Amino acid sequence: MSTDVVVVGAGVMGCSIALELARAGRRVTVVDKAGGFGLGSTSASSAVVRFNYSTYAGVAASWEASFCWRDWREHLGCDVGDLVRFQRTGFAMLDAEAAPRAGFVSLFDAVGVPYEEWDGATLAAGIAGIDTGRYGPPKRLDDDGFWADASGTLGAIFTPDAGYIGDPQSATQNLAVAAKCHGAEFRLRRRVVAVESSDNRVRTVVLDDGTRLGCASVVNAAGPWSSGLNELAGVGADFTVKVRPMRQEVGYVRAPAGYNPAGGAGVTVADLDLGTYIRGEVGGGLLVGGTEPACDPLEWIDDPDAANPNPTQAVFETQVTRAARRLTGLAVPNRARGVAGVYDVADDWTPIYDRTDLDGFYVAMGTSGNQFKNAPLVGQLMATLIERVESGVDHDAQPVRFTGRHTGLTIDLGEFSRRRAANTASSGTVFG
Ligand SMILES: Cc1cc2nc3c(=O)[nH]c(=O)nc-3n(C[C@H](O)[C@H](O)[C@H](O)COP(=O)(O)OP(=O)(O)OC[C@H]3O[C@@H](n4cnc5c(N)ncnc54)[C@H](O)[C@@H]3O)c2cc1C
Repeated sequence: MSTDVVVVGAGVMGCSIALELARAGRRVTVVDKAGGFGLGSTSASSAVVRFNYSTYAGVAASWEASFCWRDWREHLGCDVGDLVRFQRTGFAMLDAEAAPRAGFVSLFDAVGVPYEEWDGATLAAGIAGIDTGRYGPPKRLDDDGFWADASGTLGAIFTPDAGYIGDPQSATQNLAVAAKCHGAEFRLRRRVVAVESSDNRVRTVVLDDGTRLGCASVVNAAGPWSSGLNELAGVGADFTVKVRPMRQEVGYVRAPAGYNPAGGAGVTVADLDLGTYIRGEVGGGLLVGGTEPACDPLEWIDDPDAANPNPTQAVFETQVTRAARRLTGLAVPNRARGVAGVYDVADDWTPIYDRTDLDGFYVAMGTSGNQFKNAPLVGQLMATLIERVESGVDHDAQPVRFTGRHTGLTIDLGEFSRRRAANTASSGTVFG
């Protein structure tokens, strides 16, 4: 059996990459050990679509990708049945030392992302029930300082065009059906157990039922399992950026009255001052996630399959209590509810979209808890990269540049290189 490209992983990345490769006329086979689409990291995603990143490439990529979500039918280019919907809420990034406002302002100006600078009064007027106090840096609940009075007032930088996708798994399903419609094939419930190469070129992918898929290229879109797949293929030695899985929880609670005015349209808030983020949910709910504050232990794990899939009382209580300091009127239930998932975290919280030193073996990995929003674009970036490299371009020496169809912005794919110097502007958190 042979194909042009094997994509490992039918998460949001693998399905998007498959769509773009199939659309470009390549024979594509997607393999996933799970029994459906988007059942890895993607299933736990908060799916926030925002533009606050620490680099020009990061901001430009998220801005370009947002236009794909806005016109999802056009992006897919096939009739795929029920479509997921982009819920526009706006995004308020509260002032915090870890992510200074000035950095975002200059990047938004350079990229052309509309924004407003909010002082405390505007913030209070813009989000019902918000406490604009400055409490940071974030503290643990058992630290007396957690309950101390505010030391000042916070403003925010507000981007009105941000929002979220209500159902990340259905979005992945949409991409998978569109990829099939363009000719891609899927092998579900099949694990990749070997990647064979000769003369420094990938040749065959071996599945757990013994199937051997001959191929010219392989894309590692294995999410938190990506480093394991690299090991299987014998690549990774030249990576300057290391990638590791990290367990994460997102709590689910009822939003306080007044927050979610029109079916889940409450403003999405990133609060690095207290260490949480919140976003509304259709039906009056509220998702509460964490922003890796220095006072909290990080839950690095070796095996994503062994991660506890249930939210824990301790993390739930911490996250929701922090959110309740910010959103007065938010009750802290005494029973944990929510999801647990796994991020695939790169040292600098910036993804790797690149070739490797094994010819034909590509990676879309290290998505660091912040790349769901970029998935529709990542398919295009990877298809462009593969097309150029396979036609002889030396991407390591002269990085491929990609121009977005919607914004006309050019993104230097060298920014996502496996061999980059670490992004020193990174917040060192999920905000990239
Ligand atoms: C709790 C949480 C909240 C998040 N919130 C946001 C957010 O608000 N906004 C945002 O933009 N991003 C967010 N993210 C990040 C985003 O969801 C991920 O970046 C994205 O879903 C990664 O998709 P993926 O396709 O790379 O990985 P996955 O969805 O994990 O897919 C990888 C697939 O590969 C398969 N696989 C692995 N190894 C093998 C093998 N050997 N053989 C066969 N199949 C294999 C797995 O079964 C899996 O289905 C969040 C992530 C989490 C966990």
